[in-house]
Amino acid sequence: MSETTAGRWVIEHVNDDQGFRTALLAQGDVHTADSVQNLALFNNATFGRVMILDGAIQVTTADEFIYHEMMAHVPLFAHGAAKEVLIIGGGDGGIAREVLRHQGVEAVTLVEIDQAVVDLAREHLPQVSDGAFDSPRLKLVITDGAAFVAQTDKQFDVIIVDSPDPVGAGKVLFEPHFYQACFQALRDDGILVTQSGMPFLTPDWFQRHAVQLNDVFPARAFYLTTVPSYTGGPMAHGFSAKTARHDVSVETLSARSAAIAGDLKYWTPALHRAAFALPRYIETLCGTAPPSR
Ligand code: SAM
Repeated sequence: MSETTAGRWVIEHVNDDQGFRTALLAQGDVHTADSVQNLALFNNATFGRVMILDGAIQVTTADEFIYHEMMAHVPLFAHGAAKEVLIIGGGDGGIAREVLRHQGVEAVTLVEIDQAVVDLAREHLPQVSDGAFDSPRLKLVITDGAAFVAQTDKQFDVIIVDSPDPVGAGKVLFEPHFYQACFQALRDDGILVTQSGMPFLTPDWFQRHAVQLNDVFPARAFYLTTVPSYTGGPMAHGFSAKTARHDVSVETLSARSAAIAGDLKYWTPALHRAAFALPRYIETLCGTAPPSR
């Protein structure tokens, strides 16, 4: 972190090797904690409260609604009848909050490797989980998500992998054996959604990730979201299933979303469908572009 007269600039190191950094000006103190990962937490005039994990922005109170709504509601409204949901990562509780808004969901298992993330988020970012950790429908398991899914005998309707990028503890969540274990843990009509990074910034690992999902899942698509604090262009989300599940009409999505408690701030039925329309460079990276002329 570097100091200025106006305060302390906190540097995000997510793309150092490409000479690309993001700097946010911290207002007041920067809280840090060292556990499984290096955690930092501070206030910023634009993004509100910011959590950084191993140098990469994980969640900000200003724009977390975008990412958490799109990671939770796209698979759940596409599925239409999910009862058992597994969240891997997601220790800030934002995705759990959104999943629990679906009254039909009977059980959410949240598998987070780092208790410190949960503790820090509950204390300093309570609005993100908004009571999700106290829900009788939520079971919190502190362990490695890959190890959990490899040994579970449970079956899930939706698995949401809210992982960091493939570095540090998150690396194992981008390995083929993890996707195979997710395939086994999904019901036949189940859906796996993954945090798939920014294809423009990290085309190599995005392409590898797309191939590895493709090798395991017969039906694989990607959808895009623009999260202001995740710099570097649109963020991709992997949408994988055993049968094609992503092509749901706006009418059906509208009907299904009518049952959710409260208002949504980002997801809409039309946006859900439009998010699956990819620019040609991303189609090329994930192997769905038409043959070149
Ligand atoms: N939205 C963020 C992004 O797009 O990078 C991800 C946020 S979420 C906080 C990432 C979470 O995954 C962190 O809480 C981290 O501790 C957790 N995590 C990392 N590796 C994990 C693993 N192998 N198993 C379970 N949780 C893991």
